[in-house]
Amino acid sequence: MDCLFCKIAKKELKSDIIYEDDLTIVFKDINPRAPIHLLVVPKEHIGSINELEPQHQVIISQMILVAKKVAQQLGFIDKGYKLVFNVGRDGGQVVDHIHLHILSGGYARSLAEI
Ligand code: AMP
Ligand code: ZN
Repeated sequence: MDCLFCKIAKKELKSDIIYEDDLTIVFKDINPRAPIHLLVVPKEHIGSINELEPQHQVIISQMILVAKKVAQQLGFIDKGYKLVFNVGRDGGQVVDHIHLHILSGGYARSLAEI
């Protein structure tokens, strides 16, 4: 399948990787919308929140736990951060492989701005 984030997860495409485990990979967003802008991506291809099934529970909860772990490791856990899932075109989703945005950096922008 010709999927950008599958290729990044398989290291077929270069990315700035921050964290990796069996289920997920975290890398820097190429077009950051905040001083810290990371993407948590599952290694399994799931198109979006709309394609989630009960068997994905472990993956989706791991994505959130990984976001917290990265926030701790990079030292912004106490300052605060925003976690965003864009879903579908009207939700701002451009890459059709589910991903969790982590945004941080000294200010809290409104949802409409990101
Ligand atoms: P979304 O709009 O929720 O689908 O988010 C997709 C995100 O992927 C955007 O914030 C893009 O800047 C980011 N992006 C696209 N291509 C790459 C890439 N090759 N490496 C890192 N981030 C990317
Ligand atoms: Zn994919």
